[in-house]
Amino acid sequence: MSFSLVADHAFRRLIDVSPEFLLSRNIDLLLLDLDNTLAPYDEPLPSEETVAWASEMRAAGVTLFFVSNSHRPGRVEAFAEKLDIGWITDAGKPSPKAVHRALEICARPRERTALAGDQIFTDILCAGLSGITGILITPITFRPLKLSNILRALRYVGETPFRLLCRNKTWRSRK
Ligand SMILES: [Mg+2]
Repeated sequence: MSFSLVADHAFRRLIDVSPEFLLSRNIDLLLLDLDNTLAPYDEPLPSEETVAWASEMRAAGVTLFFVSNSHRPGRVEAFAEKLDIGWITDAGKPSPKAVHRALEICARPRERTALAGDQIFTDILCAGLSGITGILITPITFRPLKLSNILRALRYVGETPFRLLCRNKTWRSRK
């Protein structure tokens, strides 16, 4: 467990993370943030590209599992059903509680687990506090969709120094 705001790895898009990248590091459980990592906030279902990526992961032996802070009723469930993966919603990241529960459900040790997410102060901090690998994904959009989302935009601004520290850890290809 560590209090770290710097991710272990960084990718521009979630679908750039490949099974080969994870398996070569002995990671076969990938915990997923949903909003602004796997899909924009206003999309109700995953894209075909994301469904194909999830199938590729499964075929290679990587388990995917949502650990989402979403409070919106039915949202995470709809994505999980379409991708045929497990989920925890209202996860309360950066608390490591939901990650520990996910490890129990999926029966994997921390060393074989990573969490991919777009927010430093929730996802990457949560990965560090949980003792698992943290993978930073560039947020799908930085643009606040509504006035109520301005707080999120401000948080992204506060995260900028930590994003810059991850620059030399950004993988440009899928491997
Ligand atoms: Mg997110």
